[in-house]
Amino acid sequence: MPELPDVELFKRYLDAHALHKTIRAVQVGDARILGELPARRFTGTLERNRLESSRRHGKHLLVRLARDGWLTLHFGMTGGLAWFEDLADDPPYDRVRLDFEDGGHLAYVNRRMLGRVGLAADAEAFIRAEELGPDALDPGFDAAALTAALAGRKRDLKSALMDQALLAGIGNIYADEILFQARLHPKTPAASLSEGQQRELFRHLKRVLETAIERGAGAEQLLERLPGDFLLPQRRPDGRCPRCGQALATLKSAGRTSYYCPRCQSEPR
Ligand SMILES: [Zn+2]
Repeated sequence: MPELPDVELFKRYLDAHALHKTIRAVQVGDARILGELPARRFTGTLERNRLESSRRHGKHLLVRLARDGWLTLHFGMTGGLAWFEDLADDPPYDRVRLDFEDGGHLAYVNRRMLGRVGLAADAEAFIRAEELGPDALDPGFDAAALTAALAGRKRDLKSALMDQALLAGIGNIYADEILFQARLHPKTPAASLSEGQQRELFRHLKRVLETAIERGAGAEQLLERLPGDFLLPQRRPDGRCPRCGQALATLKSAGRTSYYCPRCQSEPR
């Protein structure tokens, strides 16, 4: 499922291929991905328009148009982008496709329909309307901001890290990695950390996300490229702790499975 590092790579991919080119035509393969937005309004806004710049906020990719606001992309569980020159290479599950005047095509691909493609007049207003907290890699999001976000939370750390209203961008997989690196059990109460633990959690949060971006999150080879002490390649039922060799344990909350090392990440007391 695309989380912050994956969406950052989608952003760079879009920037590398699709900026500053005139959109000749727009194909909506499945209008359900637009939600309430009428397909005619969507295509009318994008045709003859250009993608001028992009920014990421959490798991959302926001693309500023030359006129009439922003294109918004959320990738749900299975979404991604594909650029190709030849329509014969148009991938399956292409839900929205932009055809550019220079002959290239950008497809928003999503096997399941859990993502969303839309339009927004203003990026900041969109972020407020989606009730997103600060982006987890925003330079202004510092250790004090993380402490403030977690303060007073009766919930456990795992669900707090995944709460997009507290901080935006982290999902199930990277929350597990961050907690593993910080040696914190997923069920640790969010408000119970010492100052030292808060600083360590923040340091690992930044490092895990930045490392995943550097090593090519979203690519199939990511698992081979990650540092040897990362949990992610072992995140499977027969996985073992890369630090101590212990069999990983799992627990379920809100339908999501957490993987952790019962030796390195001891139960909260
Ligand atoms: Zn371990």
